[in-house]
This record gives sequence, C-alpha cells and structure tokens, in this order.
Amino acid sequence: MLIGTHVSQAGGLDKAVARGVERGCRSIQIFNQSPRMWRPTNYTEDDFAAFRAAIDDSPIDAVLIHAVYLINCASEDPEIRTKSLASLKQSLHVGDGIGADVVLHPGSALRGEVGPAIKRAGEVFKEALEESDHSLLLLEDTAGTGGTLGRSFEELAELIDAAGGGRRLGVCLDSCHLLASGYDVRSIEALTETLDSFDEIVGLGRLGAVHLNDSQTPLGSNRDRHANLGEGEIGEAGIAAFLSEPRFEEMAVVLETPGPDKRGTTAEEIAYAHRLRRRGLRARR
Ligand SMILES: [Zn+2]
Ligand SMILES: [Zn+2]
Repeated sequence: MLIGTHVSQAGGLDKAVARGVERGCRSIQIFNQSPRMWRPTNYTEDDFAAFRAAIDDSPIDAVLIHAVYLINCASEDPEIRTKSLASLKQSLHVGDGIGADVVLHPGSALRGEVGPAIKRAGEVFKEALEESDHSLLLLEDTAGTGGTLGRSFEELAELIDAAGGGRRLGVCLDSCHLLASGYDVRSIEALTETLDSFDEIVGLGRLGAVHLNDSQTPLGSNRDRHANLGEGEIGEAGIAAFLSEPRFEEMAVVLETPGPDKRGTTAEEIAYAHRLRRRGLRARR
C-alpha cells in the first residue's frame, strides 16, 4: 500500500517531491497549477525531467495530479466546457510529462437534467484523452447536493460509458465522499459490501487510486467536509479497516486531511495511518 498525501507544488514541481519525502510518503498528489484559477502554469521539458529525477531518487512510487476545481465538463455553457477541456488537457499533459495519473471531479449538471450532463461530460473526457498519451483519467466519487455528478457507482459507470469506456478511464474512491454519499465504510464488513457493490457496478479493474480522509459529516449527509484520520464519523476502526483492505494493497492511498493547523497532512498523521493499518491487519487475521 502506497500511503501518502497531497503536497504543495509551490516553487516548482520537484519541490513537491521533497515535501512528500519529509512526510514519509510512498505516494503524493499535487495540483498542476493553482486549483482555483483557470490560468495554467506552463512547465518545460526540463521541469518534467527534474521532477522525474527527484522521484527516481525517492521512496515515492506513485504520483497523482488533482485537476482544477473550476472544471465542469458537464456544463451547459459551451465556454465553460471549452475552458474545462483546455484545463483537463493541460493536467493530462503534465501527467504524461511526469508519469502521473489525473484525478478529476466529474462535474455538475447544476439545475439541468442529469442524463444530458453525463453525455456532455463524457464527450469532453473522450476528447481530452484522445489528445494526450498515457496518463489515466480517474473520475473521483463525489459528495454533494443538486446536480453533483459521480455520487453513485451507477453514475460513475455511466460517465465512463459516455466517455467511450476506454482503458485509460478509471476511478478514484474517496473515503469521506463515499460515507457522505451514503456508502458505509466504517467497518470491515461495511467496506467489504461497499467494494463488492463497486466491483459489480463499475469493476475493480477501474480502481486507479484511493483518497483517505475522515469525514466531519455523517453517513448520507451529502456534504464534503474532510476530517483528520480518526477524528470524524469514519473513526479509528473505520480508517483501520480502510488501510487494511486487501483490494487497496497495490494502490496509492492519498490523504487530503486538514492537518492539526489546517495546513495539510503531517508526517505524524502518515505515521498514525501506518499504525492504524497494522491494527486493521491484526483485526482481519
Ligand atoms: Zn477531489
Ligand atoms: Zn478526494
């Protein structure tokens, strides 16, 4: 299991690697630019090479890029879709350059109909994949209200179909979003059932990465509020179950927790995750 965390890319892509190493990570996630702006950061081939060299010298074996939050590939507004396509293509381009897969929130139908929104999103995903090389596009399961897409396994499967169902399409499951969207992950039994259902509807072969966050809000609350491990509704036992899940064994398991001072996951929390994993493994014996 490649346990790691989201780290800042401030000061250059390769700086993110050092931040991951400091925290004891086997995987990292970064933004390819400021996540709340459309304007892309333009990297050179040298930037990519420096990142790859830093990774090669580190214990980090998996890298994820989280795409910009403004992206809504399902938007009815053609201008937003055009901007979303450009931004997603840039994320995949950086992913190709540094050997990372891209995590994306599928988008929102806002007040419109869900069916056509899934179709519009699928078209954008397909075009972005056609214009990039090998990075996987991992649709993240979401938590939210209204037209938020990707809250159910059925919807994730429909989104993948709408994008053509190619082998570069996958899913990133977030423990907090699962719980908030009504999928119980608070015990070994509940997690087993949730993943069996995911396997049936989407297919475990599509699972490309996992986000591990506790949740400030309860099962089915439809609110996306990350909590530090063990401090939320999933709790220590649930997090231990998640961290000992055999089907996540080869995966990047990336924390996106607020941290003790709201500045992100610390080395201490990564060490705590390893302790909870050992506890979970003992409970499964
Ligand atoms: Zn996300
Ligand atoms: Zn997440």
